[in-house]
Amino acid sequence: MCGIVGINSKNEFYVRDAIKRLKRLEYRGYDSFGYAYGSSLYKKTGHIVVPSSDDKTKRIIAHSRWATHGGVTDANAHPHVYENVTLVHNGIIENYQELKDLYLRKGHKFLGETDSEVAAHYFAEKLKEKDMINACSDFIHDIKGEFAILVLVKGDQNIYALRRDSPLVLGVGTDMNFLGSDIYAFSDATNMAIFFENDEFAVVGNDSFQFYDKHGKKISKEVQTFRWEQEESMLQNYDHYMIKEIMEQPKVVKRLLFSLDTEQKEKFHEFTAEMKKAKKIIFVGAGTSYHASLLGVYYLHRCGKAAQTIIASEFEHFIDVDEDSLVIALSQSGETMDVIEALKYAKARGARIASIVNVPYSTVQRMSVISLNILAGQEVCVAATKSFTNQVALMLALAKEFGYKVNMESLPQQIQSVLERSGSVKDMAMGLKDNEHLYVLGRGLSYPVAREIALKIKEISYIHAEGMMGGELKHGTIALIEKGTPVIGLVSGKDNAMLSNLKEVGARGANVITISNEAAGDIRLETSNDGKFGILASIIGQLLAYHIANAKGLPIDKPRNLAKSVTVK
Ligand code: GLU
Repeated sequence: MCGIVGINSKNEFYVRDAIKRLKRLEYRGYDSFGYAYGSSLYKKTGHIVVPSSDDKTKRIIAHSRWATHGGVTDANAHPHVYENVTLVHNGIIENYQELKDLYLRKGHKFLGETDSEVAAHYFAEKLKEKDMINACSDFIHDIKGEFAILVLVKGDQNIYALRRDSPLVLGVGTDMNFLGSDIYAFSDATNMAIFFENDEFAVVGNDSFQFYDKHGKKISKEVQTFRWEQEESMLQNYDHYMIKEIMEQPKVVKRLLFSLDTEQKEKFHEFTAEMKKAKKIIFVGAGTSYHASLLGVYYLHRCGKAAQTIIASEFEHFIDVDEDSLVIALSQSGETMDVIEALKYAKARGARIASIVNVPYSTVQRMSVISLNILAGQEVCVAATKSFTNQVALMLALAKEFGYKVNMESLPQQIQSVLERSGSVKDMAMGLKDNEHLYVLGRGLSYPVAREIALKIKEISYIHAEGMMGGELKHGTIALIEKGTPVIGLVSGKDNAMLSNLKEVGARGANVITISNEAAGDIRLETSNDGKFGILASIIGQLLAYHIANAKGLPIDKPRNLAKSVTVK
């Protein structure tokens, strides 16, 4: 996962400005950070601290870590230095132990336990015999695993950048070039970018760059001009990005709906044409995106269009794909490793690939024959809120093309009305915050929403929450219900089966809270459409998770152990 940033500039810039760019990528990983410029090296555990000094430089590499190999220590933070080489790495070097043993036999000293440190030794060894271009193509040949790597070599004015399976993009500025894990690193400074494909590398100077293939042969690549929807990136009056992003939902849904009718109209029709043509539709996603895809499957099922969805990391174990299949990936970042692996598997078997992403030009989008953007803008909080809502809104819009009846135009206003009830959700949160366990029950269209609400509560509020099918409860989990156990029931319309399930837990002493579109609910949502009920109920869940976490004083935007863009397996 992790975020990497590199800048090579003709003119000096403040180091603190470069670290602010790293901070924009902090959502990718945040257990430690570090940077190197000139002869300075700084690395530390904890959240990124922007230095206050007036230090300036013309060249820097920086890294925000999400540890895979080796504990969270200052020594394991990147950059790693060996002799004349300094580098940062995102990914996993699978054959690191073999290489490390080799270098240890040669007498090298290692300062930490990461797989990445081996790469610094690799380049330093290679540079004893050959130049950096050849060292880079050897690296691509010899290294097993994934990498986005930026390398500085003492006495050399370039940054060397290499990629396989971990995201890396070059931003082309005026008199300066940027390298980043994604376009957020530089989207305020330039909208011109070149995306690295697998096994490519580049030599990046301060006003020029050259790409190479894995054999070290020069290649020319197209500069892409990207458009990026950007909300105000500062917190303004909000205490956390999570609540800011929750509150942005009416606006981002409106923007998505408008674009489906204007600039994305043609693509939207091509997308539905692909779906109509396919004999088999299979969605794939992970976490929140999986829940959005599950809602999509339900919506389509309602109008007689068969589809399935599979969790990305288990894709190949559960599904047969062939030339008649359309595999539709959902991924906020478009860089989720499990999703990319599933798409590779599907592609190798002849399936057509489509996708729904938030970050334009991301790997998933570039693997697709057709892709739609959800236009949620940057989501800083690790827990997905507005990106989930826009994914689901897009699912509803697609289902509408297949006959699902829904008035999309009123959705932003309905979301606004839900947000205005944040105060009463806060009261509810106060009553729930001290529980260790919580259950969320839904049936039919409400089942994926129950899962999503439970996920949000787990991620942000650190309460063990299970989102379940109401009907499954009595097949085991009901054994855990005792006096006072909180159970949130999602009741859309006259769902008698769901009401019975709630009676069953109520009879065993559960503290039952209903979110419903009927008068009897503890929280009543003003919609008779069950598709929209799902979106509105999930927003209540977002608010609930937020208020519980806030009352407990938890690190809401950066919950422990998580990273936003999961780019490792
Ligand atoms: N595998 C490397 C480490 O554990 C890089 C992890 C990352 O991508 O942040 O340091």
